[in-house]
Amino acid sequence: METLEFQAEARQLLQLMVHSIYSNKDIFLRELISNASDALDKLRLAALQDGLEADTSDLHIEIEADAEARTLTVRDNGIGMTREEVVDLIGTIAKSGTAELLAKLKEAKESPELIGQFGVGFYSTFMVADKVELVTRKAGTEGHGTRWESTGEGTYTIDDDPDAPVGTSVTVHLRPKDEEDQLFDYADEWKIKEIVKRYSDFISFPIRKGEETLNSMKALWARPRSEVSDDEYHQFYRHISHDWSDPLEIINMRAEGTFEYEALLFLPSRAPHDLFQRDARRGLQLYVKRVFIMDDSKELIPDYLRFVKGVVDAADLSLNISREILQQDRHIQMIRRRLVKKVLSTIKDLLANNPEKYATFWREFGKAVKEGLLNDPDNQKAILDVATFSSTYGTEPTTLAAYVERMKEGQEEIYYLTGESRSQVENSPHMEAFQAQGYEVLILTDPVDEIWVEAVPDYDGKKLQSVARGSVDLPDDEDKPEPEGDFAPLLTFLKDRLEENVKEVRLSHRLTTSAACLVSDTDDITPTLEKMYRAMGQEGPRVKRILELNPNHPLVSGLRAAHERDAADAALPETAELLYGTALLAEGGDLEDPARFAKLLADRLARTV
Ligand code: ADP
Repeated sequence: METLEFQAEARQLLQLMVHSIYSNKDIFLRELISNASDALDKLRLAALQDGLEADTSDLHIEIEADAEARTLTVRDNGIGMTREEVVDLIGTIAKSGTAELLAKLKEAKESPELIGQFGVGFYSTFMVADKVELVTRKAGTEGHGTRWESTGEGTYTIDDDPDAPVGTSVTVHLRPKDEEDQLFDYADEWKIKEIVKRYSDFISFPIRKGEETLNSMKALWARPRSEVSDDEYHQFYRHISHDWSDPLEIINMRAEGTFEYEALLFLPSRAPHDLFQRDARRGLQLYVKRVFIMDDSKELIPDYLRFVKGVVDAADLSLNISREILQQDRHIQMIRRRLVKKVLSTIKDLLANNPEKYATFWREFGKAVKEGLLNDPDNQKAILDVATFSSTYGTEPTTLAAYVERMKEGQEEIYYLTGESRSQVENSPHMEAFQAQGYEVLILTDPVDEIWVEAVPDYDGKKLQSVARGSVDLPDDEDKPEPEGDFAPLLTFLKDRLEENVKEVRLSHRLTTSAACLVSDTDDITPTLEKMYRAMGQEGPRVKRILELNPNHPLVSGLRAAHERDAADAALPETAELLYGTALLAEGGDLEDPARFAKLLADRLARTV
């Protein structure tokens, strides 16, 4: 027999379990049954697809309670574990993000949903147990099985067990009941039945206690919506998603005819912590005629809808279907197209009929959905229809349709500005004329916004136009007083002085209060995008921008006069540099040499005090 230490993170989690951070302790049984059900699925698949020789004629879960010994055992005849697997899977927490979870758990004592997200299922037994034994034997292996035991303190013991049957049994030595602490008598028959019925009724293998089968085994997706309670859907959602909060929306689908399938999808109510991590688990569960085939089937749902959870049960696929074949399968592609349409139309419904739910959804998942504007051109319009954006119109996000409704007479384009935050965008000099003349501008602050706006030419025939790009000709520009004097010599002078940084210097229509701003040329990429490419390691030539001056600003008119008086004035080149630096700072840009800029500015100020 060997005594081993739990990995440090596992130990911390166990501590939290032992000290009961979660009030609903009933769920330990759900977690054990869920693991057992997974193990049965795995054995059936291994027999089906890998030709593993195993008896799959009576796959089931058995619950045994001993009121006198105060033990509860959950046994399955599934895939089992080797000794190495027990050490790896039970003794450590392999999942990423555990440290983050622990930090959060320490902050908030009651945070069941956090536990669920990280799948510490098996450890939840220590909420009710002072000792747990696990006996297992891997299907298809020779020799002995393995016995594991722990009291949930720092260590566990592991030993060979020559008598272990194939599968896994977990025996929980129950702590004395303490109903005040919601620690019930889990050796009690009625309590067990209640928990199984509530949390595990849909499990597709029989859960037996003695002669009796406790669950109905009915596939939830095959039952009419009207016959299934929300609670049943929610429990099922938890089983497949490991998310402990309730889903935001439930979607049922059924197709009959030449190619039959059923689907049960969920929109979660919160984004998982790893929504934007590449290696995160995603995809739907695939069943064929009620038989579980695979988890995480990415072929069934595009990446931008990766947060959707659920099950697809297809009638006409081979039970042997592999991931490789799945990728090319015509039927799978058809199902995927239909699922996408259905999810998008569900979001549209929320937008129209349930603004509160929609707002939650968009806050949590909008950033991901907008990736579809790039990756799913066929549904671009449908995605634009369900998207909402911040705008200068008010504090509430707006749809594009509502924006178009509000467009001023003569306005032909949808104006937007990208940036890092609402206040940065709102205060950008590019906004001045638009604000002054009452044109609404969309405020786009998600990183993905920088990219999709390049890919979407228009909405409803209205071009999307950045207010920081190209030259803007606002319809009521004509009323503006013409600047006095000739600016041409000054513009040429500035262009020469600032050649390294700007490709053109011109007078502007977009400024009312600032002296100058920088704009991108019509076909050039924006500085933020340039920065993003750079961050991804793609080097390109530096994109020069256009410096625009406000001819009505005293600084600019004064500069013109000074240049006219004495074009060789030694202060002029410095003023040019200051002007450029100020424009860059105003839009939140980075100065190339901040120390030099600070010195020029201080020297200049010194002369005025
Ligand atoms: P999760 O189920 O979220 O992965 P658990 O801590 O409950 O986390 O289980 C860890 C792993 O241990 C499982 O992923 C599975 O590989 C293995 N395991 C747990 N219970 C069983 C079982 N009854 N049979 C086979 N393997 C199991």
